[in-house]
Amino acid sequence: MTRQTKIVATLGPASSDPQILARMVQAGVDVVRMNFSHGKASDHIARAEAIRKAAANAGRPVGILADLQGPKIRVGKFEEGRVTLTRDAPFILDARCELGNAQRVGLDYKDLPKDVKPGDVLLLDDGRLKLTVQRVVGHEIHTLVKVGGELSNNKGINRQGGGLTAPALTAKDMDDIRTAALIGVDFVAVSFPKSAADMYMARQLMRAAGCAALLIAKIERTEAVANLDEILDASDGIMVARGDLAVEVGDAAVPALQKKMIRAARDRNKLTITATQMMESMITSPVPTRAEVSDVANAVLDGTDAVMLSAETAAGKYPVEVIESMSRVCEEAEKSAEIGLDRELLNRVFTRIDESIAMAAIWTAYHLKVKAIASLTQTGSTALWMSRLNAGVPIYALTPEPRAHDQMTLYRDVRPLLIEQRTDDRDLLLWEAEQLLLRRGIVDRGDLIVLTIGEPIGSSGGTNTMKIVRVGEHPEPAR
Ligand code: PGA
Ligand code: MN
Repeated sequence: MTRQTKIVATLGPASSDPQILARMVQAGVDVVRMNFSHGKASDHIARAEAIRKAAANAGRPVGILADLQGPKIRVGKFEEGRVTLTRDAPFILDARCELGNAQRVGLDYKDLPKDVKPGDVLLLDDGRLKLTVQRVVGHEIHTLVKVGGELSNNKGINRQGGGLTAPALTAKDMDDIRTAALIGVDFVAVSFPKSAADMYMARQLMRAAGCAALLIAKIERTEAVANLDEILDASDGIMVARGDLAVEVGDAAVPALQKKMIRAARDRNKLTITATQMMESMITSPVPTRAEVSDVANAVLDGTDAVMLSAETAAGKYPVEVIESMSRVCEEAEKSAEIGLDRELLNRVFTRIDESIAMAAIWTAYHLKVKAIASLTQTGSTALWMSRLNAGVPIYALTPEPRAHDQMTLYRDVRPLLIEQRTDDRDLLLWEAEQLLLRRGIVDRGDLIVLTIGEPIGSSGGTNTMKIVRVGEHPEPAR
């Protein structure tokens, strides 16, 4: 597979059958997302087992992302399961209401009445319905319906402009972090963080639970956009969570924010996932719309590490076809993507030896037009640095560490390969790496490649050597 951009697919009822799962992996899924808003711990554990089996059978790595529910603020349930709200009718959000009707409904976040004031606009069900706040009376928020429609049980509520005070990590999230640790997921995504403090809190909870996953901040609150830099510093990557983000900041602001966020993340050596409604019509249709094709292609051109599927693979009719379509669109967009090293690279300050080698390797690979870079890495950080630059050279990351191997499934341009580390001899290891690429058909005799490795062998952060070789021209070092 030559695709550089990675595909994240959400699992759900449409992708539970082992045969479908196997076909999704064949079609090119790089990371599966387990949505902790749905299902029990036992469901997630069973799913993880199934996906690991499918990945092993297919012989390609698949990472696992646990997406925590977070403080999604929702209306309660209705007597009849649903009501229809009509324009200009009064409607009450009542923190003490048990079962709702056409006049009022309950709230799972009891402090919501403290967070809103007259004139505020509340958006329900991803913005499909709109209410304006008239007044707040104790535990009741009196509103007028501006845009009506059907409202069913437990739909989400956002306030336009943000400003809801619910903390990012709920008691349920804390339990779910323990489940994620048990599964050994590769990534944990935090929903609705507002600041770096929320991410530090998640990191601490993960550490306490023994969870070594990379930490992804979902940017979906107005406050998170304002605090992007500090959130990036506190995280390993971000998700451009366009569903909730569009509701909070207005849909028209999202495309420019997407570009800005991806750029900011890459500049700081962080990962990005572009998410929500990318292939929405394929929930029910076997082909994407022209607009969806453009959207996926544009995210690729923006430099995202991964594009994500939500309901398309979780609940859609075409969980395999949508991955094939997305993959095809990514590959085509990559062909037209501008390749070139960032001019800013020249002014970039780096003080670490391993980062300097990574930069030297990517610079050399770009100018010498080598066939591939092979980086022997313990943690994957060398591969991450290289992948933040657009050299147009595939980066093969060879590691003996299963955790690093699976986490690199998300890095754009990086193809993780698991190796056995049978020797401490540097020259022998480099020669074995070359042989592996040759055996896999990745390179041919006579191809130029760039290799990086660190000493002492097996230490993390020790990358200190770059070697340029013509494949097959060196004899096997003596053992
Ligand atoms: P969700 O997050 O699917 O968990 O809501 C993504 C988004 O809001 O876009
Ligand atoms: Mn969301």
